[in-house]
Amino acid sequence: MNLYVDGKGIGFNHYREYLPERAADFPRPKRIRCKDTMSRFHQHWDFCFVSGVKRGAFDVKLESHHLFAGTAGRSDEPCNLIMLDRKVHEQVKTEAVPLRLLLWCKWMHDKAGTDWVRMSVLRGSFLPDLLVDPKVLETWRANQGIPNMPPLPIIRGRA
Ligand SMILES: [Zn+2]
Repeated sequence: MNLYVDGKGIGFNHYREYLPERAADFPRPKRIRCKDTMSRFHQHWDFCFVSGVKRGAFDVKLESHHLFAGTAGRSDEPCNLIMLDRKVHEQVKTEAVPLRLLLWCKWMHDKAGTDWVRMSVLRGSFLPDLLVDPKVLETWRANQGIPNMPPLPIIRGRA
């Protein structure tokens, strides 16, 4: 059974089958620079994938974050992008916002833009296991301190 199926129809539990056995043998990714992709991504998504806060709510600032910088260096392609509010963005790479959480949130909201194989290539190694934990999201929402928040965005689709 396929679990956490990406935009290419490949489950998280199967994507390794499409890659060399050793990360050292992964193809070297070419960095894509594309202002168009960046602005389209920014226009399309109006909420933070982690906290759920919406653009325009109080002083919320939404920022596009590159999931993988690595040797490919911040490649501008949909599978490498996630929308975050500034407070979440500031804590990326800390224990509060580990990559494992970002990968789950990316998949949850943007399955079409998720591509496990390409993400691995951009990272230059296999991906860490997804951190699937709705409680973490609830905590983030509470931490944003915004009153009258709309309910959590509906988690579309199933694993
Ligand atoms: Zn960033």
